[in-house]
Amino acid sequence: MGLLVVGSVGLDTVSTPFDKVNDALGGSATYISLSASYFTGPINLVGIVGSDFPKVYMKMLEEHNIELDGLKIVEDGKTFRWSGKYHYDLNVRDTLSTELNVFEKFDPVIPENWRKSKYICLGNIDPVLQGRVLDQMNNPQFVVCDTMNYWIEGKKKELLELLPRVSVLIINDSEARLLAHEPNLIKAAKKIRDLGPEILIIKKGEHGALLFTEDVIFSAPAYPMEMINDPTGAGDSFAGGFVGYLHRNRDLSPKSLKAAVIYGSTMASFCVEKFSTKGLEELSILRIKDRFREFMNLSRFDES
Ligand code: AMP
Repeated sequence: MGLLVVGSVGLDTVSTPFDKVNDALGGSATYISLSASYFTGPINLVGIVGSDFPKVYMKMLEEHNIELDGLKIVEDGKTFRWSGKYHYDLNVRDTLSTELNVFEKFDPVIPENWRKSKYICLGNIDPVLQGRVLDQMNNPQFVVCDTMNYWIEGKKKELLELLPRVSVLIINDSEARLLAHEPNLIKAAKKIRDLGPEILIIKKGEHGALLFTEDVIFSAPAYPMEMINDPTGAGDSFAGGFVGYLHRNRDLSPKSLKAAVIYGSTMASFCVEKFSTKGLEELSILRIKDRFREFMNLSRFDES
């Protein structure tokens, strides 16, 4: 069975101190799927767009072995649009506008033949919808879930109901503190794992990521980037690399989970090098493995 990915598919208008793009391909499911496609396939994407969604984007996704039978196209509907502006410090982003359009009525329907998928990646959408996806699945084994402060603040109860059904929660450091009401990340991780997810990943932006399981705390380094053009989608690319690698190997041992975190970080580093999804469109597994090895060398040390 393929890897099931559910989330937003949209058109992003993004400006950074270096450049600007209008109506470029974006959305959480888009980044997750493209990133995962280098490790496994097929990727079964579930989302919604309007009839204004450019066909060239669909073609590019299909060329990456991303199946679009679950992408609903609403006749005369308008695609989800998001606009953001990054500051000189690229960690600071203002959302300028969010036009939900067809996404407002998104009620994910999983095609019958995808309901047996064992590996699922739930992009950052309303936890109620994430739950509805799981309701339709036939005994999923490994559920990776992304969320954000908007849902932690606005739909806490629904999120707390979802968490026991999730295998891996991926959030950033400020979201972890918010969810746990705890400033210390180690204590926060313990509290969040007690809410349900066996595995927790806390992303720390340009400072790497932390993996927490019952037995393991693993700190992944950040890749020293000389040029970051557009940070949009970095978190989703991380999730895609992480779950794509695990889906291919079907191995959830500590060693494999650590490698998956590094592959996630690797894909995020490619994503931010170019605007929109361009950094993920023309990669090869060889280039990905080279950068994975660079990651290994970054934190390998010994006593002299
Ligand atoms: P990230 O940079 O990982 O936060 O992801 C950015 C992507 O999320 C962009 O491509 C947006 O299209 C998408 N996005 C932004 N706001 C929302 C939202 N409220 N719901 C779903 N997707 C969104």
